[in-house]
Amino acid sequence: MQTDVYSLVEKNEKLKKQLDEIKKTEDIESQIVYKENTYWRNSDGPYCTKCWDTENTLVRLHSEDSIEGQCPNCDNKVVFDIEAYEKQKDELHKRIKNL
Ligand SMILES: [Zn+2]
Repeated sequence: MQTDVYSLVEKNEKLKKQLDEIKKTEDIESQIVYKENTYWRNSDGPYCTKCWDTENTLVRLHSEDSIEGQCPNCDNKVVFDIEAYEKQKDELHKRIKNL
């Protein structure tokens, strides 16, 4: 009998934890905004869309400039500013042609 009570308490704890996780996920889900291939949480970001959409994990993208970035978790490459990216690509093509 006692072991049954213990296992019920354990089950209850597990369910509470699962519920907390779901609440946390729902909280974040209601706060994040999709913008230029990334997610933003208020002024915090950009975050990887792939990691959030598949694992519900917020992973900050690493970037050397404001044009493109990469996820340290899944290596997903993201272009933040498509216009600037195309411009940079065009300039690079022009430079290669002039070599
Ligand atoms: Zn990722």
